Amino acid sequence: METADVAIIGGGIVGSSIAYHLTAAGCRDVLVMERETAQGKGSTGKSMGGVRAQFSTPVNIQMSLYSIPFYASFDERLGYPAGYRPQGYLFCATSDKHLAYLRINFEKQVAMGLKDVRLVSTDEIRSMFPQLRSDDIVGGSFCTTDGFVDPYSAMTGFMTAATDHGAKLWKHTEVTGIERRGEGWRISTTREEVSAKKVVNAAGPWAAGIAKMVGLDLPVEPLRRMLVPTEPFDQFPHTAAMIIDMSNGFHFRPEALGFLLAWNDPGETPGYKMDFEPSFIEKILTRAADRVPMFENLAVNPKRAWAGLYEMTPDHHPILGEAPGLPGFLLANGFSGHGVMHAPATGKILSDLILTGKCDLIDTSLLNLSRFAEGRMIEETAVL
Ligand SMILES: Cc1cc2nc3c(=O)[nH]c(=O)nc-3n(C[C@H](O)[C@H](O)[C@H](O)COP(=O)(O)OP(=O)(O)OC[C@H]3O[C@@H](n4cnc5c(N)ncnc54)[C@H](O)[C@@H]3O)c2cc1C
Repeated sequence: METADVAIIGGGIVGSSIAYHLTAAGCRDVLVMERETAQGKGSTGKSMGGVRAQFSTPVNIQMSLYSIPFYASFDERLGYPAGYRPQGYLFCATSDKHLAYLRINFEKQVAMGLKDVRLVSTDEIRSMFPQLRSDDIVGGSFCTTDGFVDPYSAMTGFMTAATDHGAKLWKHTEVTGIERRGEGWRISTTREEVSAKKVVNAAGPWAAGIAKMVGLDLPVEPLRRMLVPTEPFDQFPHTAAMIIDMSNGFHFRPEALGFLLAWNDPGETPGYKMDFEPSFIEKILTRAADRVPMFENLAVNPKRAWAGLYEMTPDHHPILGEAPGLPGFLLANGFSGHGVMHAPATGKILSDLILTGKCDLIDTSLLNLSRFAEGRMIEETAVL
């Protein structure tokens, strides 16, 4: 039987970051189990790679204030690239209500220590991106250190740095059962049994199934999100930010020689729906051309579009920390669309909780599972 101090279930970006932070803190007896034959087949490989600090709740802002500088220095710290590009996020408000909302968020972000965010006028948005239809834009907010990373590189960078320092990654190893044994845990897998002092559930959209193995009801639901990459298009600058049209949630960013288009269809319902729905293309192109008239000429190849799963919680915040009544069984789940950008902070928080039982980065009680039963939900409204 294999033994480990810490066994991590799931080799996506979250499991990889936790493994990295543990080994960086000196805990080298770490085993990551991933059921697929390669990393990145879950949500991480489907992500848009956006990173931002422009959130509405202090705890999400704090998670970003750790994570974005981490990504900025990732290559030097780990010796592997994460592909961080600080091209910004530009939120374009089309009503006074949106503008008031951005102003309140801006004040919170500045109060928390974010230096690179500013409110921008309609004229400023026009001069930044004259290609946008701006007749209904009433202003916006822009943060220069927001931007994008390459999720696959960041995930493999975390994992390679962790294995360089002693962690093990078992691919093609599905966890099929978990039992309490003495002070620790016995994990059944398709490879061999594992005895671990601590277990971390980092199974992304499949986290509720892992939690069920220990009798835990975890409020994490999969929700399909679809992305459409365009063919090469050079009439809009490739230095552009992630641009968000707040009138309908359509957003886009440069990707390779073209653009990556996103819009969260409000008609989507929870479930393990992984297929790309071809009718989505017309819906998103209509919204794209409405905000950027020259996008009427965009070409897309439906075969290159894809779908993946967000892992949604009722208040759109992750669930982090030890599960109530299950000592040594920890949760790192439910990122609600922000798991790539918050992976560095999550790795640090989980590593601190595992090794010392506390963490100074955030007030971890805000994100524990008990908040739902105790009526302490903290709603994040800035979800794309
Ligand atoms: C279309 C789309 C766009 C997104 N855009 C962004 C964005 O711009 N910015 C951002 O921050 N986030 C974004 N996200 C969200 C982000 O991708 C996720 O929050 C993040 O990848 C979650 O990482 P994870 O490691 O928890 O999950 P995953 O990457 O899904 O990893 C979980 C792993 O667990 C494995 N697993 C499951 N069950 C078992 C088992 N029984 N045994 C062993 N292994 C198991 C799976 O195979 C999987 O590899 C996006 C998501 C989607 C779908």
